[in-house]
Amino acid sequence: MQEGKIVKIISNLYGVKTSLGYIECRARGKFRNDKITPLVGDFVEIDPKERYILNILERKNSLNRPQICNVDAALIVTSLKKPDISYNLLDKLILVIKESQIEPVICITKIDLLGFFEKRKIKKVLNYYQKIGIKVFYNNKLSDLVKYLKGKTVVLTGQTGAGKSSLLNKLNKNLNLETNPISDALGRGVHTTRHTEIHEVDGIYFADTPGFSSINLENINKDNIMIGFPEFNEFTCDYKDCHHIDEKECKVKKGVNEGKILKSRYESYVSFFKELKKWLVFRF
Ligand code: ZN
Repeated sequence: MQEGKIVKIISNLYGVKTSLGYIECRARGKFRNDKITPLVGDFVEIDPKERYILNILERKNSLNRPQICNVDAALIVTSLKKPDISYNLLDKLILVIKESQIEPVICITKIDLLGFFEKRKIKKVLNYYQKIGIKVFYNNKLSDLVKYLKGKTVVLTGQTGAGKSSLLNKLNKNLNLETNPISDALGRGVHTTRHTEIHEVDGIYFADTPGFSSINLENINKDNIMIGFPEFNEFTCDYKDCHHIDEKECKVKKGVNEGKILKSRYESYVSFFKELKKWLVFRF
């Protein structure tokens, strides 16, 4: 028996990376009976001689698009200009990613397009994100990012035009990953072979398609909204169930007014809270 990690699936062939090398395997029928499909990212036990997957180890998370599991980090590629940074989108991605039990990591691009004062302002904001526990890296200093992500399975996300492909090209010029998600309209009705892959670049495993591309909060449990706003937990409101919206005596709102909580973060929170409420109205 040999342990490995599935790095590629083409229809029903599973490419497993092991210490013995890359081995193409088939899945045992028992998985079909148990209604388990091996996914890219799965840690598996295989029979290297017979080339069969014998066992799938427990997953820590899994995504639908791309269909991979055991994702360690979602790299939010965020440009500062062209397109301009959207704090609302950034905060939404952080919430959705954290809710999927994946670590959000920010990679800033196009910082060179900013002037001195703009740069100083934005650095303050980014320091705030670091303070609340989110790692921030810059694409002009990729060695730090590479060091941090080494050995991890990473899915890319972020606005169109933020520089996802150029980031990957900077890491490895031989890679040609699909960074524009195929639109639903194109994908529908077309029979395609199941093909998912993670590519090893500098010791990092990148999914071959970006994730979190359609993000509304519909699938988020409303009780989980605070996962995206860990800094609010440091403020204890008088009402136990304070929503930090209309309540008069609210320590979070006080924190915003005193500059302890970033205003854009609070604005994101309010907009997500209202969006979640809207989905709840539709549901019941
Ligand atoms: Zn409150």
